[in-house]
This record gives sequence, structure tokens and C-alpha cells, in this order.
Amino acid sequence: MAQLLHPDFKAGITHAEATAADKKTHDLLMEQQDALKAESWDYAIALSIQMRENQLRVYKPGSSPIGGTWNALGSIYKQAGRLQEAEDAVEKGLAIYAAVCDYNEMSMARETLAAIKEAQGQFDEARKVRLEGKDRKEISCTSDTCPWTSVPFRMENGGLSKMFALEELKQCAACKAAFYCSKRCQKHDWKTRHKPLCQKHTGAV
Ligand SMILES: [Zn+2]
Ligand SMILES: [Zn+2]
Repeated sequence: MAQLLHPDFKAGITHAEATAADKKTHDLLMEQQDALKAESWDYAIALSIQMRENQLRVYKPGSSPIGGTWNALGSIYKQAGRLQEAEDAVEKGLAIYAAVCDYNEMSMARETLAAIKEAQGQFDEARKVRLEGKDRKEISCTSDTCPWTSVPFRMENGGLSKMFALEELKQCAACKAAFYCSKRCQKHDWKTRHKPLCQKHTGAV
């Protein structure tokens, strides 16, 4: 009996083909973890592109897994300081999520894009991107170590991160472009990421 595959897969793909492709993606991801730890950005980027080619053999080009790979590539470009390429990749991921109405992934991808905008010094854009989730109460916390977007939380919560209404979040008083679910998240992001960007933007250095 033919097993029904998730609709993200292309028509006519067999269960064996899908499983083999997912295993290969997993292996490439593991290899990429090592490359990221070693800060071998070019190699990590090459692995992302290889991952997408592998996924495209079985997944529809407009499916959420492909969107995820675009986003992950955007994050790596960002870490590598290649901000324009980072933005282009995340925009591709966002377009896919929008088309398939994957609001949770969209919320997290918007946060990635907003962080890229901050790194480019475009704080008005960063604020605008983050607030795109306002009407649906789907704003992600700005901290990249927020417990509500962490992998363990998402694994327990059907793959979904927690999203917030604007009133639930504290905004950075200086730039008003960053939004936090807790004091802990705000403090941590200030210490590890936001401070130099925010001070440069507001001229507080
Ligand atoms: Zn948080
Ligand atoms: Zn700020």
C-alpha cells in the first residue's frame, strides 16, 4: 500500500525517496554545525546550497522546508557579514511562508530580517518589519536566545514558537525598534548583540 506523504513533497515521490532525501539533509546539517562552529562561512554557505538542491529533488519549491533552508542561509550570510545576500535569502524564505500562510515561521523569519536591518543601521526598517506581525499578535521576541523560540520549547509545542501581542512586549527605550518578552531577554540581547548597534544608531556612544 502506498503511504501518503506530506503535501510539501512533490507528486510521485516515493516514501523511500523522501526518507533518503531527509536523511541526506540531516547529514548536511550536521556537517554544517561543525562548519559554523569553526566559522568556516563559505563552507557553511556551500552546504546550505547543497542542502537546498537535495531538498528540491523531493520537496515543492514553494514549500515550508525550502523556505526554512532559505532562512537558514540568510542567517549564515548575516553571521558572515554578507548583509545584502542575507537579506535577499531571508526575503525568499518569507515569500514562501507568506504564500503557504506559515505564520509562525514568518514571525521568526521577520525577526531574522529585522536583525539584518539593524546590522545595516536601518532601524526604522527593523521596527517596521518586527511590527508587521502586530495585527495578528504574531511578533517574535527580539532576543535570539529567547526561551519561547528555542528548539526545546518548539519541540514540545508542535514545532511552534510563542508569538506575542505588542502590549506583551517591552520595547528598547532608546531605539524603539527592538521588542522583548522579558527583562532577561532584553538584558541578554543588549549584552550580546543590540548595544553597539543601538548606541551607534542613537548617537549615545
Ligand atoms: Zn524573549
Ligand atoms: Zn535599542
